[in-house]
Formats: sequence, structure tokens, C-alpha cells
Amino acid sequence: MLQAFREWRERRRVERMGYTRQEWEAAIGHWPVAARYQGAERQALFEMTRRFLVRKSVAPAEGATLTDAMCLTIATMACVPILHLGLDWYDGWYTVIVYDDAFVPNRAYMDEAGVVHERGPALLGEAWHQGPVILSWQAVRSAGGASNVVIHEMAHKLDMRHQGANGAPPLHAGMSAARWHDTFSRCWEALQEDYRHHRHMPVDAYALTGPGEFFAVCSEAFFEAPAALYRDWPDLYRLLAQFYRQGEQP
Ligand SMILES: [Zn+2]
Repeated sequence: MLQAFREWRERRRVERMGYTRQEWEAAIGHWPVAARYQGAERQALFEMTRRFLVRKSVAPAEGATLTDAMCLTIATMACVPILHLGLDWYDGWYTVIVYDDAFVPNRAYMDEAGVVHERGPALLGEAWHQGPVILSWQAVRSAGGASNVVIHEMAHKLDMRHQGANGAPPLHAGMSAARWHDTFSRCWEALQEDYRHHRHMPVDAYALTGPGEFFAVCSEAFFEAPAALYRDWPDLYRLLAQFYRQGEQP
């Protein structure tokens, strides 16, 4: 009863928000990943994007510009990873803050030399535990290759649902945590070796920052450049496919 009421209220709010299919298509037309979703799946992505915008507040940082098309783009990119998981996977936080460009968090941080600075280095994206996601629009619009800052931060959000952003998101029934850990560790070690020997790297070296970053960077590659990730790391690809409930092959 309550659930049915919530769904009815959400549908009404979606209708009142008023984004049309044409506006959505125009907004996401430049993003090649969206072209992979056709037919019923494309309609489902459109529906989920509108529900995302009803449930979340996408707001400009002070002085930043944010258009409807930008909101639709960000929401669509955010919904791709959870299209087959459900919007509830983003429960527990509400706000996406969008800067025009890279932003400097207003808090102290310690650099690698142990020096404490009053303000941190400039960032392109950030996800707070049970708090907002913060994005640079410049970074969002330069998605491509194997990178996508929205998918990166959303992967952190999914990861945080189980013991913080440590590269071990909550797995579905039937998935083995040991296998997940072994496969990700093996690829992590291989990436370290590739880095050390200046070889081709299946994902960006930023992944070596920590296990949480490794999962987020692999998630970016999984959606932005699936064929390359599958070629280089088929076992890891298959685990991500199971987690995101996508096809076993790109
Ligand atoms: Zn990250």
C-alpha cells in the first residue's frame, strides 16, 4: 500500500517535471555509450533518468551554470550503472553539486610529504559517504576513451553500501566474495607490474591509488570501453558484468 503510494507520487512528480523524450535524446546524443541502449532498454534508461532527477537534487555550485541538458546528461550517466540494479541502490544520499571546472575542496589535507595544507588539491569529482556527489562539468563533458567521472563517483557510491569505498561492493546472491577479491587483486598486481615496466595498461594508473579507486576506474572502463577491458582482463570483466547485471560479453 505504502509502496504503491510512493510509486504513484513519484510518477506524478516525474510527469510534472516535464522532460520530454526529445529533450533527453538531444542532451545525451553526444555520449556514445548511450547509443548502446536501444528499444525497451533505452526507454527504461529514459524513465530511470527522470526518476533519478525527481529523487535527487542536481544543483550548481555557487556561481556555476547548470542547464536542463546538463542535468539530463549527468542523470543518464549516473543511471547507466544501475539500470539493471534499480534506483534504490542510490538510496541514502540526495545531492549532486556541479562546478563549471575543477574544484578545490574547502578542507585541510595532508600531501605525500606529510605537509598539511589548508585546502586540498583541485578535484574533478568526489563522493562523500552518505553525502553529496560533487562533479566538474568540464570533466563530465570530456567523458570518453575509458573514463567517465560520473560513473566513477557512482561506483564509489555503490561500493560505499558495504563497508565503505574499499573495492568490495555488496555482491549479489551466488557471487563469491573470495573470487571477487582474488580476481581484483590479481589484476591490481598485474597493473602495478605494467606500470613499473612502462607497458600498456588496461586501465588508468590512477586505479593504483587504492582498492576503492581500482574498482571505480575499472567500472568506468567497463561502461566506456568494454571491448578493451574484456580483451585485457576477461575474468574481471565477467565479475563486473555479474555485479552490474550486464551481458557476460561486451
Ligand atoms: Zn575515486
